[in-house]
Amino acid sequence: MVEPLRDIIARHGLQATKALGQNFILDRHLLARIAAIPGPLDGANAYEVGPGPGGLTRAILEAGASLVVVERDRRCIPALAELEEEFSGHLKVISGDALEVDEQAQVGRGAHIIANLPYNVGTALLLRWLGGEWRPWWASLTLMFQREVAERIVARAGSNHYGRLSVAAQWRSTPRIAMAVHRSAFVPPPKVASAVVHIVPADEPEGVDPVVLERLTAAAFGQRRKMLRSSLKAMPGALDALEALGIDPERRAETVDVDEYVALARYLTANA
Ligand code: SAM
Repeated sequence: MVEPLRDIIARHGLQATKALGQNFILDRHLLARIAAIPGPLDGANAYEVGPGPGGLTRAILEAGASLVVVERDRRCIPALAELEEEFSGHLKVISGDALEVDEQAQVGRGAHIIANLPYNVGTALLLRWLGGEWRPWWASLTLMFQREVAERIVARAGSNHYGRLSVAAQWRSTPRIAMAVHRSAFVPPPKVASAVVHIVPADEPEGVDPVVLERLTAAAFGQRRKMLRSSLKAMPGALDALEALGIDPERRAETVDVDEYVALARYLTANA
């Protein structure tokens, strides 16, 4: 029988530390359901950030993947080394900060990223994975977030949650909320509810410079209550772009849908 995670935590002295965003999931059925979200993993490559005591790590390995993990808390390394031995040749443990790892060199292309992310670095990592060269090196993202962040990722124009993160996640990817997770699933329970988001890369719209799109949404949502005429005033060419595309400058950022932001960014890219 597989040793209960509670015992592994006790044996290695892995009491959760708030500074490292540690909220562990101990329920192996729940962990197996999370590992199943990307689809069959048999023979696939996977990458996990923040394995902690290794619950999700084991679930991914049991699903048949070869896995690279990066964990910042050195206390967890001996517990992960036991898994490395048990799943010999299928698990590589990196002791370090996920924000500093050269992922492509360590993990290779086509990996499924699966993580119960530390909340303090979750959005930074997501933006890194959504940015850069397209198609990306990863095949899918299956990530735990605070429910409110998950809602921002999938929000549509007109919703209170809609913003820069929604556009960044949706302009060349398809995100969905795959699972709601109650606070009580974690030890210790966080203050707020969580949700797992699943994201697969889509085709990149042609002729759009990602940096221009990012600047555009930063300007628009930076003053989300103001009309576009005012929030985009300082961005060269933006008011011309609104006119050329027939977008009413009296609208506000949250009413402009992802396709409209893409069209504006394409116009600005072409007329830079
Ligand atoms: N995967 C485990 C689970 O599901 O129970 C633990 C999840 S816990 C929310 C987040 C984990 O990320 C912790 O083990 C923490 O030590 C680790 N961590 C925090 N910051 C990190 C960083 N910058 N790089 C790598 N791991 C980090």
